[in-house]
Amino acid sequence: MEKVVPAPLVQALKKQKYHRVGTHSAVKRCKWFYEALTTGRSCYKQKFYGINSHQCIQMSPALFYCTQQCLFCWRAQNSDLQTTWDEMKLPQWDPPEQIVQGILKAQERILTGYKAHPRTNPQKFREALRPKHVAISLTGEPTLYEPLGELLRTIHSKGMTSFLVSNGTLPQKLANLDVEPTQLYISVCAPNEEVFKRVCRPQIPEAWTRLNETLSLLSSFRCPTVMRSTLVRDKNMENVDGYAKLVAKANPTYIEAKAYMHVGFSGLRLGFDSMPSHKDVCDFALRLSERTGYKIIDESEDSRVVLLSKREKPLRFGSG
Ligand code: SF4
Ligand code: SF4
Repeated sequence: MEKVVPAPLVQALKKQKYHRVGTHSAVKRCKWFYEALTTGRSCYKQKFYGINSHQCIQMSPALFYCTQQCLFCWRAQNSDLQTTWDEMKLPQWDPPEQIVQGILKAQERILTGYKAHPRTNPQKFREALRPKHVAISLTGEPTLYEPLGELLRTIHSKGMTSFLVSNGTLPQKLANLDVEPTQLYISVCAPNEEVFKRVCRPQIPEAWTRLNETLSLLSSFRCPTVMRSTLVRDKNMENVDGYAKLVAKANPTYIEAKAYMHVGFSGLRLGFDSMPSHKDVCDFALRLSERTGYKIIDESEDSRVVLLSKREKPLRFGSG
């Protein structure tokens, strides 16, 4: 990997405790994995959808690669570390089975660190030995990984569910997925093209048009779909009408309005004050609800996220 990705980047990722898997994938311990094992608190996806935080693997098959350079992204981007690489092309493809074996091993290594932890709940620890869910969301654009459908099939064949998060700029890849994730997320972090260019900083032509194509094909998915908006104070929280139009186009099962969090490499591009408060997110969600007819059905103050839905209750997948 050192040959295709500059050494300073590799060092920075080690410091941030990424566990690299093969050439282009990685696992990172989620804060909520730790919390669930040691304090019993869990993430908002456990609250909303029943995904057990202590049985969840947070991973990416495209660690260094994306078609966008969002201001709020955790991912290292060209220029963050005064170093460059081709951000839009995976150097080669590791086979799906190898990736899945690799992420399971990485998760096991992470878990080993909690065996002797005085606050680890022994039952949760035993359960965590058998991961039940893969969050393909860590960083990077997963649709750049060509055999993505096969990766999903392999994850499901091991008895695990999958939540896939995409920026929607490669609609053909999503349209041609031969296997659907358990739940599909499309990030919509701008109400119009002008804000999109400023905040999401696409690196490919026609990215806004492509995202809109993806939104138009969202209802063809059988799995639940989520339009997820990461909200950054003073950057993309105005123009709720613009977001409402995109909701009408996509007709997703859910909308998640979520505050930007000042973590990872985003700290080099945005300040702490770019994080909206939970109240700001609730206000945004309320305005969006009034304009779309989607009901506010849940929220998590810890993660500053509000869930809007067409359904009375969300579909739940795990036992959490
Ligand atoms: S679903 Fe997301 S937030 Fe929850 S434990 Fe998994 S990676 Fe963390
Ligand atoms: S689309 Fe996702 S991975 Fe790509 S730059 Fe934006 S936040 Fe980062």
